[in-house]
Amino acid sequence: MTSKVEAQALGLLRAIVGDRYVLASKEDTQPYASDATEHFVFYPEVVVKPRTAGEVSQILKLAREARIPVTPRGGGTGLSGGALPVFGGILLSLERMSSILEIDRENLMAVVEPGVVTETFQNEVEKIGLYYPPDPASRGSCLIGGNVAENAGGPHAVKYGVTKDYVLGLEAVLPDGEIIQTGGKLLKDVAGYSLTQLLAGSEGTLAVITRIILKLIPLPRRRYVLYAPFPRLDSAAEALTRLFSEGISPSACEFMEKSAMDIVEKKLGRHFPSRGQAEACLLIELDGNDQGFLDAQAGQTGAILQEYRALDVLFCDSPQKQQEIWNLRRSMGEVVNQLVYKGVDVVVPRTMLSRLLASLREISKKYAVTSACWGHVGDGNIHVNLIKEGLSQEQWDQIVPSAVQEIFSETVRLGGSITAEHGVGFIHKKYLPMRLGQAEIRLMRRIKGVFDPDNILNPGKIFPDYSA
Ligand SMILES: Cc1cc2nc3c(=O)[nH]c(=O)nc-3n(C[C@H](O)[C@H](O)[C@H](O)COP(=O)(O)OP(=O)(O)OC[C@H]3O[C@@H](n4cnc5c(N)ncnc54)[C@H](O)[C@@H]3O)c2cc1C
Repeated sequence: MTSKVEAQALGLLRAIVGDRYVLASKEDTQPYASDATEHFVFYPEVVVKPRTAGEVSQILKLAREARIPVTPRGGGTGLSGGALPVFGGILLSLERMSSILEIDRENLMAVVEPGVVTETFQNEVEKIGLYYPPDPASRGSCLIGGNVAENAGGPHAVKYGVTKDYVLGLEAVLPDGEIIQTGGKLLKDVAGYSLTQLLAGSEGTLAVITRIILKLIPLPRRRYVLYAPFPRLDSAAEALTRLFSEGISPSACEFMEKSAMDIVEKKLGRHFPSRGQAEACLLIELDGNDQGFLDAQAGQTGAILQEYRALDVLFCDSPQKQQEIWNLRRSMGEVVNQLVYKGVDVVVPRTMLSRLLASLREISKKYAVTSACWGHVGDGNIHVNLIKEGLSQEQWDQIVPSAVQEIFSETVRLGGSITAEHGVGFIHKKYLPMRLGQAEIRLMRRIKGVFDPDNILNPGKIFPDYSA
């Protein structure tokens, strides 16, 4: 199924959404030919920007009839190539469906269109004392629809959960154009299989999400941030495990390896405090409303970090200091994105972190490649980035597949998974059998076949050998 977008189809698309929302020239489609994933470029034949679910439905009906592949796209910040139109066809951009339809203060819920920028939504609900915790580091440019499709996480998942945990209901358009409603403004509902939870995290392969009902919670009024450099990776990982076993529940728990901090400092000209000879730093955030309780937790956290030989423990009490350190941490992805790199997003049980970090060092030494790691270690989630700098193209092409294979093998051996929050998408589909058995993959294929028998929606993603 690789039909071209012929002149007749182009005319029909223009009739559905209007001339100015159909882009077909190379120049106009260029911004949609790549996402934030490494260096990939795949031009769509046409970019279409619908405004309503009805328009999405008409586009999908047309595409299905003409067997044209359709790739949904949110903010294009994905790191697994999910929004890459690898077979050309129609790139369906949801950017115009960008309204916050309702913030329901009484029920602590909101209804949004998929094109709302995550940070914009968070700021809106915060204005009335509410909180939407899922906050990928890309929150200033990713869209809620993309977050739902990827089941995005972020720093605050450790305490508050991932996107799925906040999605109560969806409106979605099936590949045959039928519009379905799943879930609702309900906190409990077990009528049938949860289609909501199936679509959340389906990476745009089952349906196009056109409306989302989200759960909100009250905004915690106080935040403390502690920052601690460690001379050894294992002591940082062990301190972390101890924090949780002592019953401390941080709202964020981030890890930054020396090489990643070096890259950020060099690029931005700003410096991490008190770094000295640190091999890694931890950033721990605590939140809540009860100052006395938070003071006690912060004191206990600081004492544990010191017990595990932190070189220093900084309490960032002012919002400005907290912002500064968070900005440095959040900038890591963007800074590395500007280099030639290969990123993977692995997760292990928290108690295996120390072993994983040691293995990652061994692997980068074995292949003589710089690796820069950071991540949401409270969840056992590490983003490993191999950096090309200093290697020829030939060396790089030789090293990357073997090093990635080894990183995934070691992760799985430690009881982990090949992706925690970035998705399988285009770039890691061949590794899926390292994580899932044949029976599970077969079942997923059958689910895909039920939703999309003609394989028009986001083909070439997730499944190891799925071609269009
Ligand atoms: C600097 C940086 C930091 C990041 N930090 C994090 C992080 O902390 N945590 C995290 O989880 N991720 C992170 N990411 C990855 C990325 O931001 C997330 O995966 C995000 O959810 C993607 O949203 P998007 O709107 O950009 O989606 P896109 O990249 O446009 O699309 C992602 C996938 O969703 C599908 N899709 C998009 N919209 C729809 C829709 N309406 N219906 C159906 N399918 C749809 C696409 O087909 C594609 O498969 C980061 C990325 C960058 C560049």
